[in-house]
Amino acid sequence: MRGFDAALKKATAESWALMKRIGADTKGTLGITRAPYDAAEQRAAAATEAVLREAGFAPEYDGFGNLHAILPGADLSAPAVGLGSHFDSVPDGGNYDGLAGVMAGLAVLLAAKRCGMAPARALRLVGLRGEESPWYGTAYLGSRMALGLVPHATMGQLVRGDTGRTLADHMAELGFRGQPGPSLSPENLACWLELHIEQGPLLIGRDVPIGIATAIRGNIRHAQAKCFGEWAHSAAVPRDFRRDAVVAVSELVMAMDAFWTGRMALGDDNFVCTVGIVSTRADQHAMTKVPGEVAFTLNLGATNSDVLRQSGEYAAARAREIEAERGVRFDLGADTGSQPTPLDPALVNRLDAAAGALGLGRHRMPTVGHDAGMFAQAGIPAAMVLVRNQNGSHNPHEALEQADYAAGVRVLAQAALELAG
Ligand SMILES: [Zn+2]
Repeated sequence: MRGFDAALKKATAESWALMKRIGADTKGTLGITRAPYDAAEQRAAAATEAVLREAGFAPEYDGFGNLHAILPGADLSAPAVGLGSHFDSVPDGGNYDGLAGVMAGLAVLLAAKRCGMAPARALRLVGLRGEESPWYGTAYLGSRMALGLVPHATMGQLVRGDTGRTLADHMAELGFRGQPGPSLSPENLACWLELHIEQGPLLIGRDVPIGIATAIRGNIRHAQAKCFGEWAHSAAVPRDFRRDAVVAVSELVMAMDAFWTGRMALGDDNFVCTVGIVSTRADQHAMTKVPGEVAFTLNLGATNSDVLRQSGEYAAARAREIEAERGVRFDLGADTGSQPTPLDPALVNRLDAAAGALGLGRHRMPTVGHDAGMFAQAGIPAAMVLVRNQNGSHNPHEALEQADYAAGVRVLAQAALELAG
């Protein structure tokens, strides 16, 4: 393994340099912008493809635009160990969300090939497309098509908000027109390991470089909730006669915060609740009016589907009570969301053990939605290595220390080679 360690170190440095180069090439005025199935994302994929080709691989795109490269295994019929993440970013985001996972997988394949490793099963790098939701209003475009979870014909009808053009149109412009059948399935993938930046403050707070994801949170999202009260004179109307929508929404927010506190008191740190938008009507509100209408969002998340369901029911029940107490009316509107996805316990333990064997501090924690969840839903055991990073993600200030990235790559490599045999 000594030869491999040195090769991995070198490949990690090369992949880091490639990541920096792709970042410089896809930087706009504020942050990094790599829209799914658009020129900048394609340049990121092409730069990765070129490095693979240079190293002697034969990279290929599937009909959904995902980039694949294979280090063959001795057993040609055995499904591969999959490594990778996504190329795209949110508008004016950071360079590492997604790309770090593709680069990490690349480093493992480069090092394994240069050492002449011949594992029992193949290693397959997959650079996925279109993971981020702001562009087409939904996430995991490339992975869901590749895994056969949504056909290209259906997904292709999605319309990109800023261009007004369909996904199929944007894909076709790059030469991707779908393909019959999935490109990834339990038949060609034994498991999926995805490295991703943490995107949160927990690992920095705990002073450890590595997070081992235990599950992917599901969510219930009310994007267009409203509370209707009654507009009234702020000084003339006594308290008992008021139907104040702001106070009513505030009460609901505090009720959900109390629900969260209750979960934590039970030792459950997997629930989250965010009211990200609260607004009175700009065309009617005034400092001197009792607010008669509030629009807000309610975003509930949990790794446990029972807790998620309970939180949704609790929100609805509390809304009914507040309506009765305060003479208002809530309309939480339609909810969208996703089910919590457990990650594979054996893979989770293996990643944890790999980090331990390398002497790296780590912490087990649930994470947010990632492509890995789609692999799990398609019946491919999946797990994730999270890497400590600064300034969160989905913003231009997102940061990552090279040493932390390298630590994550080592964990990924160790587990991947064990699994490949
Ligand atoms: Zn991501």
